[in-house]
Amino acid sequence: MLTCKEQVARSSDYLDGQLTFRERLLVRHHLMFCPNCRRFIRQMRLLQATLKIMPQAPVKDADALAERLAAERRQIIKGG
Ligand SMILES: [Zn+2]
Repeated sequence: MLTCKEQVARSSDYLDGQLTFRERLLVRHHLMFCPNCRRFIRQMRLLQATLKIMPQAPVKDADALAERLAAERRQIIKGG
């Protein structure tokens, strides 16, 4: 099973559909057992969706969200 750190390192590729079939399985498996990474992926997805829907979104909001994600990511890596 992936560590949280390995999982986080793959998350943007996962969301972009860039992983191999095998890696995607590994990520899904990790997400099944790790609520922290599940939450992280959900927030990443939200951020991506937000940026896609609102390319003109106020930079301030996107920054705040990205900052929160970065903090979350640090926490996950520390915990894992
Ligand atoms: Zn995890």
